Order: sequence, then C-alpha cells, then structure tokens
Amino acid sequence: MTKPLRHARDTLTHELETESILALALTETGLELARSLGLETRALSPTSVLSDLWDRYDVFVIVAAIPIAIRLIAPLLRTKATDPAIVCLDETGAFAVPLIGVHHGANRVANTLSKLLGATVVTTTPSDLGDHSALDLISGMTPRGSVASVQRHLNEGGVVQVIEDLPWPLPARFPRGESSFRVIVSDRRIAPQELDETTAQLVPPSLIVGVGTSTTCSTQELRELLTQVLLDHELDEAAIACLATIDRRRDHPALTSLGLPIRSYTAEELDRIVVPSPSVTVHRAVGTSSVCEAAALLASESKGDLIVTKERSNSATIAIVRRSVPSGTLFVVGIGPGSPLQRTREAEGAITNADVVVGYSAYLELCEDLLHSGQLVVPFPIGQETERVDRALEEAIDGQRVALVCSGDPGVYAMASLVFQRIQERNDCNIEVTVVPGVTAALAASAEVGAIFGHDHAYLSLSDLLTPWKVIRDRIEALGPTDIAIALYNPRSRERRSQLDEAIEILRSYRPPSTVVAIARRVSRPGATISLTTLAEFDSAVIDMETVILIGSSTTRQHGSRAYTPRGYGQRSSAADHNLQAEVTPSP
Ligand code: SAH
Repeated sequence: MTKPLRHARDTLTHELETESILALALTETGLELARSLGLETRALSPTSVLSDLWDRYDVFVIVAAIPIAIRLIAPLLRTKATDPAIVCLDETGAFAVPLIGVHHGANRVANTLSKLLGATVVTTTPSDLGDHSALDLISGMTPRGSVASVQRHLNEGGVVQVIEDLPWPLPARFPRGESSFRVIVSDRRIAPQELDETTAQLVPPSLIVGVGTSTTCSTQELRELLTQVLLDHELDEAAIACLATIDRRRDHPALTSLGLPIRSYTAEELDRIVVPSPSVTVHRAVGTSSVCEAAALLASESKGDLIVTKERSNSATIAIVRRSVPSGTLFVVGIGPGSPLQRTREAEGAITNADVVVGYSAYLELCEDLLHSGQLVVPFPIGQETERVDRALEEAIDGQRVALVCSGDPGVYAMASLVFQRIQERNDCNIEVTVVPGVTAALAASAEVGAIFGHDHAYLSLSDLLTPWKVIRDRIEALGPTDIAIALYNPRSRERRSQLDEAIEILRSYRPPSTVVAIARRVSRPGATISLTTLAEFDSAVIDMETVILIGSSTTRQHGSRAYTPRGYGQRSSAADHNLQAEVTPSP
C-alpha cells in the first residue's frame, strides 16, 4: 500500500529516456546533477556547441542560470514549430523552468524532473497558470489527436466533454462539461478520423504486457509480435505501463530494447498464478507453467483483467492485462516549523503536485506559496483531526493525488499516525500512502539556540486530551533522573494550565536549579522569539501553545545567547579518541 515518491524514480527516468533529450551544463556541479538524472549529458563551453546540436534533439535541459540559458539559445531561435523544447534547471536542482516549447514537451519534462528532484516547476504559460488542464501535464497520460486545438479551447476558459472508455482519474478540477470539444480517455488505438479537430485522446498507462521468450529471440521478432498483437486488439502502444517477465529474462536484449520498465518474477512466484493457457513444456523448461500470462497478472497484483491471452511467434509469447483503475495517493506532508527555508524539496513537490490539499487553515497559510488555482484546497478549523484525515482519505480513494499538510514533522504529534489508524479501522482504503518528513519544532528550536540537542534527548507532549495525565506524569518522573535533554510540546493552553507547572516541579526535583531552559515561541514564523532561562527561574505564565520548551541536561552549557550540550570531547581518554577516530573515518 505504501509507495514513497522516491520509488517512482525508475518510471520517471524511463519517461525521460524515451525522449530525444540532451542535458547541457557549464560547470562540474551542473554536469553532476544532469548525470544523476540519467540523461545524456554534455559540457557546454562558453563559446557554445549548442548550434551544432540544435536540430538534433527534441528537448534540451540546460543546467545553468536563466540569463545564461537565454543568451545561449537566443541566436538559435527560429519558429515555434521547429525550435526544440528548452527546460532550464538551476544547479541545485531546486527549480525547473520550461523556457520554450511547452507543446513540444517542455512542461512534461520539467514536471518529470520536478518529480525526480523534488524541484519546483516554474511555469508561466496560461494553461498552467489557470488550472490543472494542461493536457500534456496530466500525470501518466499520453495526449493524442487534436491536442493543440483542445488545449487552446481550455486555455480560453472552455470546458470539454470527457468520454471515459476507462474511468482513469483526471485532476480534481479538470474542466468537464457540455461542449463540442471532447477528450476521450482510452487505451484503444483510435482511428485518426475519429479524432477530429475538436477531439483529443488521453491514453492512460493501463496495460501490462507479459512476455516470455527463448534465449535466442531477436529484438525484431519480439517487436513485430508486440506490434501485431496491439494492432489485432486495437490497443495503443502508449498505454503500456510496463513489461512483465521471468527473472532470467529481465536483461534479455529483446525486452530491454523496447525501452519500457520491466518487472520480473521467480518461477515459483509465477507458478502460483492460475492462468488460462498453462503449458507442460514451459514448466519442464523453466519451472512454471506460464510466463507471459502469469507475469502480467502478477504485475497487476491480480487486480487486472487478462484482455489478451497468450499469443506467440516462433520464440516469443505475449499476454496483456488491463490494470484496474488505481485509486489515488495520499502524501502526509510535514512543512517544517514555518519558514519556506526550512521545508524539504520533497515536501514542496508533494504539495505543488497535489490535486487536493487538506489541512488546518493556519498550516495552509504557511505553504500558501505552493498552492495554485488548479487545486482543490480544503481548509479545516483547529481540531477535527479525524474529519481532516477522513476527508483526505476519501479524496485519495476517489483517485486524487492528495497532500495532507502538517506543521513540523507529520509523525511528531501530528496526522501521520492517525492516517494509518484510520486506514486500519476503515478497511476501504486501497491507496498509496507516503509520509514526507519535516523539521520538527524542537529541532528547529535547538538549532536556533545552538545545540541543546547535541546529545541524547526525548520528546514529550503535555497535552492530556488524548493521553491520561497520569501516563504523561509517570514519563516525566521516569525521564527526570536520566539527565537527558527534553522537549516539551503542547506545553500550556488557556484550558490546560496546571500540567506545565507540575512537569517543571518534577524536573526541579531531579535537576540542578541552574539547568538551562530554552523557550522558543513561533520558531521560524513571523514574530519568533527565543529566550534562555534556568529551571529555577522558569516562569510558566509566559508560555502558550505556540511554544516549545527545551530543558537541558545537567551538562548543557550557556555561552552568551547560545546554549549547547557537549558530546564529551576533551574529556576522553586517548583510547576513546582512537575509537572515535575509527568511528568517523569512512571505511575504504
Ligand atoms: N508536528 C509538529 C508538532 C505539532 S504539536 C512538529 O513536528 O513540530 C503542536 C506543538 O508543537 C505546539 O503546541 C508547540 O509546542 C510545538 N510547535 C509547533 N510549531 C512550533 C513553532 N513554529 N514554534 C514553537 N513551537 C512549535
């Protein structure tokens, strides 16, 4: 059920590799970034080799600052119809900017790069500003037919009639309605005359092609068989999501030359699948009665329909499964304590790329810069956590890509555990869940003040709304004598006042009066304050729910306005020095 964003890498890299695409960079850093994407890469000298390459690629990714990229391409620009697509990527991989060639794939490539790198896509073309209706940006879909004229109609604010051969999810706000412009969602090979100038097709990645071959099967034979099978069954090649086969064939050139992602299984796994066309001969040869049918069914997690049973040439077999329509994805996203500078790229990507964003209204404000009008944004008042989670789950079950926004880290006194709890309780959520970590308030506060958490530390929430106060109290009692630093979350609200005083009293009974305490309010947000005091002088009256309190250990020291907990350097024996050296020296 869980499939982190990072794991989509293979598919995305594959999407890029099928393009005629070249990455150019000026510096070593840029070259490294380009290579890490698995792209064909060239170094660009200031005198430029771009003019020699201009007509040879459909897409260029230029890893450089925009002004440099513009000066490089300006002398080469001719017409919109013939110029390649250009995407500019900054050297840190934080931003992907389609410069020209939006309808030649610039946006799609920028979008794919953004998913690979967690980069933010900066688009300025009308179809991206308005809503989620850029036909070439709809995740996983390949547009066909009269894409340009339907897109123009959408850009002018028009709606389109959606004809669903397959109910594959479209973005939440895709502008559907009564219209003479049509979008057909289908994996069928549709005749060009059916796709008149007001009709586009979106081909979803719905097909899994199971393949069996002998060792001697040629690239050409497999390609011809596949083409014939697709033709006979009127299926569109762009709908192939992946190939599926037996482990021993995963690197066979006939399969790899098709340039599609390949999933492979052991003979034992395949032999467990019940198939319409089992073969004793195949079983004798490789230990399973079926390769192509069983592999295709396995790759669909047995949730698809075998729409083409085994078809064969001399030395290859093919079967095709149509996957069941996927339900959506839920990203539980931590946006850090407040400032965009303390957000991860993965978190930003998950929010920008979501169709639906759900969260407490104050947290949505903190990431307002990532929201856009193509999204359904669902703000919630404070509280109503279960309702918030259920709403996010329902949108994901409906097939949407959903971001549920939390402050700090989603696993620290936030929504991630409630998401998993509700999924287990409801039992109706066939969705993917990805938890995107964030900088939690206590770590941001510890960094702000210095390094109070330089050694062991513990987190406690003083809120007894969901945990009995006795349990919390016992934990404070238990932590007191351990002499490790402690973060107190949810310290004191208007209704809950006594708990903090009680907690401090317990800690005072174990730790010296001089113990360093940091009071961090609204860390990394406008109006942030941070102050240092001691356990003896601590005054709970100044504390509210926007504050996290860090209590040092007896070794925590103050130096001017900063505080830190030493790790023990300078007190070690030379033997310990030696061991530490071994610990920090990377092994060859
Ligand atoms: N998931 C959040 C914590 C949510 S619990 C995280 O990882 O940070 C809410 C508590 O977190 C607040 O009562 C406060 O104690 C602390 N908190 C959250 N953001 C804060 C901030 N920017 N400054 C200080 N404390 C904060």
